[in-house]
Amino acid sequence: MPIATVNPANGETLKTYGALGAEDIERRLATADAAFRTYRTTSFAERARLMRRAADLLEEDSQDTARVMTTEMGKPIKQARAEVAKCAKAMRWYADHAEELLVDEEAPEPEARDSGASRVLVRYRPLGPVLAVMPWNFPLWQVIRFAAPALMAGNVGLLKHASNVPQTALYLEELFHRAGFPEGCFQTLLIGSGEVEGILRDERVKAATLTGSEPAGRAVASVAGDEVKKTVLELGGSDPYVVMPSADLDRAAKTAVTARVQNTGQSCIAAKRFIVHTDVFDAFAERFTAGMKALNVGDPLDEDTDVGPLSSEQGRDGLVELVDEAVESGATVLCGGERPDRPGWYYPPTVLADVTPAMRIHREETFGPVATLYRAAGLDEAVAIANDSPFGLSSNVWTRDEADIDRFVRDLEAGGVYVNGMTASHPAFPFGGVKRSGYGRELSGHGIREFCNITTVWHG
Ligand code: NAP
Repeated sequence: MPIATVNPANGETLKTYGALGAEDIERRLATADAAFRTYRTTSFAERARLMRRAADLLEEDSQDTARVMTTEMGKPIKQARAEVAKCAKAMRWYADHAEELLVDEEAPEPEARDSGASRVLVRYRPLGPVLAVMPWNFPLWQVIRFAAPALMAGNVGLLKHASNVPQTALYLEELFHRAGFPEGCFQTLLIGSGEVEGILRDERVKAATLTGSEPAGRAVASVAGDEVKKTVLELGGSDPYVVMPSADLDRAAKTAVTARVQNTGQSCIAAKRFIVHTDVFDAFAERFTAGMKALNVGDPLDEDTDVGPLSSEQGRDGLVELVDEAVESGATVLCGGERPDRPGWYYPPTVLADVTPAMRIHREETFGPVATLYRAAGLDEAVAIANDSPFGLSSNVWTRDEADIDRFVRDLEAGGVYVNGMTASHPAFPFGGVKRSGYGRELSGHGIREFCNITTVWHG
């Protein structure tokens, strides 16, 4: 893929960048290595001061940064500004909490004595330069979700961003630089995915985190495994959204629309499969479909737009294929389903019913505003359909019945269960998946400890 900004609203190439050569990459790795040697000894207070400064600058830049994101990957401008605000919040959260999350843990005295020690403690030390391979869909948030905890822990970051968001990638390096982080603490590498292996094999790079598709995750994790380096993988999702008879149907249907079309449907934690109890299926389907039809599809720079273009022609083609194949195999289109005849990579909000396990759309991730509806005869069937997916990122359940809730929390194969609401990440709570959605956790104390050397300190 060329490293370029191509406006998804009209297909126009706005800016193209050359990839870094071998010498540039070497210089940047050496800079990261040197930066880590001193940055690792800085205090939490100093790191927090820099992180808060970066959050302030980010907010000051909000209008411009949001516009760049929208121009590079097509997200509606209101959502781009919300992404900026969310990043600043996470940066401040880690500035405020990193020290307490990584405070030395004293072992209880009986255990320490049992080991022959006068005192034992666990210290969370930084690992070193961490490579972050990131996707375009939340081009700021995915990076900050890694960078804020990593920098607060004393690590340094090397970013390989998706090739279609180079301006956002360069902005991130500039942001941390302007905030006063020492040179080399956070660098953007404008490279193609073919360069990732060599960088990951370099002994100065200690670990990697990847947010993206399963093939990319597999490629990076294989190399990291071969080099015995730690990885965190945040991959795709096909989250279930289960609606039971006791649910507040109006709220469930209204939230379902937002949960499906946020970021024009290109979110790993978007609800994608809507599993509805047969008693309320028709009522839910009618309200949900009406909500999907009412969305404003258009220019992502327009303040009133709910759904913009998809980020790339390739992404749109993939979605068209999935829907067309399902319809040919018997799925019923309740709304949308037709590729519009207009410039840009638009696809309409679409609802499909009568989806069967034989269809590709049943097992694959729909990365766009396309919902599939399933009818469940009861709780057991709802759980079975929800778990019948290679993915296990998050899940949503709507019910007012405590027994239902207990059962979903016990049995849903996912890294999150959101009851009577939609999945949304928050800096204080762990985020990540099981099955083909990856492993490891981001955010919260769990996230910041992923890239720490958990060191046992034993005193005789
Ligand atoms: P992608 O094609 O996998 O790209 C993600 C990143 O990986 C990009 O920087 C890409 O670089 C790089 N990459 C691709 N193939 C690679 C390889 N073989 N070796 C090393 N690096 C490689 O994914 P995407 O299309 O940008 O993003 C959509 C996917 O991300 C969806 O599946 C979505 O669910 C997932 N996602 C997951 C989460 C989560 O938190 N679980 C969050 C957001 C998105 P190039 O751009 O240069 O190819």
